[in-house]
Amino acid sequence: MVIGDGAYIKKLNRSLILQKIIEHEFISRAEIAKITGLNKATISVQVADLLDAKLVQETQQEHNTVGRRPIMLSINESAGYVLGIDLDFKEIKFQISDLQGNIVETNTIAINTEVYEEILYILIEEIRDYKEKYSTCHYGLVQAIIGVHGTVNNDEWIQFIPRFHWSNKDLKSDIEREVDVKVSIENTANLSIFAERVYKYPESDNMLGIVLISGIGAGIINDGKLVKGHDGYAGEIGHMIISPFGQECRCGNSGCWELYTAEPVVFSQLMERLDRPNLSYNDIKQLLAVSDPTTCEVMKTFISYVSIGLNNMINSYNPETLIINSELLKVYPNAIEEIEENLQSSVSVYQQIVLSDLGKDASVLGACALAIQNFFQVEEVVFSREEVLD
Ligand SMILES: [Zn+2]
Repeated sequence: MVIGDGAYIKKLNRSLILQKIIEHEFISRAEIAKITGLNKATISVQVADLLDAKLVQETQQEHNTVGRRPIMLSINESAGYVLGIDLDFKEIKFQISDLQGNIVETNTIAINTEVYEEILYILIEEIRDYKEKYSTCHYGLVQAIIGVHGTVNNDEWIQFIPRFHWSNKDLKSDIEREVDVKVSIENTANLSIFAERVYKYPESDNMLGIVLISGIGAGIINDGKLVKGHDGYAGEIGHMIISPFGQECRCGNSGCWELYTAEPVVFSQLMERLDRPNLSYNDIKQLLAVSDPTTCEVMKTFISYVSIGLNNMINSYNPETLIINSELLKVYPNAIEEIEENLQSSVSVYQQIVLSDLGKDASVLGACALAIQNFFQVEEVVFSREEVLD
């Protein structure tokens, strides 16, 4: 920071004011002054600029008490839109959100290809359609963020997506060359923990999000910021070794955590042992309800392995909130209690372990929230309304 740099301070103040308007949804100039400590003249000038830029709007709030009704400020939520995309194996999910984090529409399309050029073509066509659809508002479609189930480096190149066998793909540039929309690429575990913080746990500055759905990934928030590591690959915890002489892994090591805890692994074990060609989450729930011994045994083993990895992660990060995103644990009664019973080490310290309510939607929600944060150039966004998630 350069002391006395007026333009820089002006930018900081603008960012802080916007952040408070987003967080409070409706707030008066006087309340902003009280919360931020900025003087009223500064707020007045900045708000005038934001009104001019159509980023903020004024409303006179109705209330029953006698006296002057204050003019409230809120985000001009329909001035622009953001697009969150989850590029998953076999399907791509698209979600449009307005600038206040309200979901406007969601659409999932099935894909039966892993070929890069074919998926690229689908993404370009869809993004082009959304850009056209939202072109009439002031800022149009401001950004598309694509979550991928693989590693993404600091330049937003896809380093590796195992399920697609893609490596070193510049998906961002390949799309931006064809459509005039700002595109960003991010790992889905990072987007998921970002959504948890923005929508559910804004007070928690040290969070660990473990996604166990298809592969395994972790999103780490330390002091309120996403932790990405030197190259951008932090959180590849599926390849944490938990059994040194265990099964061989495609990564070249043996005994990696995901060989024991990825949900597809548990499904295939159950299908083989129960001799059933297909199993759904609901089937497993029903088998557990009648205490089927094989299902109970496989699930108990799964939970033991989950606990071993969590123990190691807790010792590494000492999180305040640890969020497990797992459809399989959701069908298991008292999963969290059982995990907590397994975490007996006196040095494993955390405040709370919870199962994610956001589930598979977490990544697109996080993508939209991150795009909004980028658009407003604010330090953080908080959308604390429960109804968004119902
Ligand atoms: Zn491995």
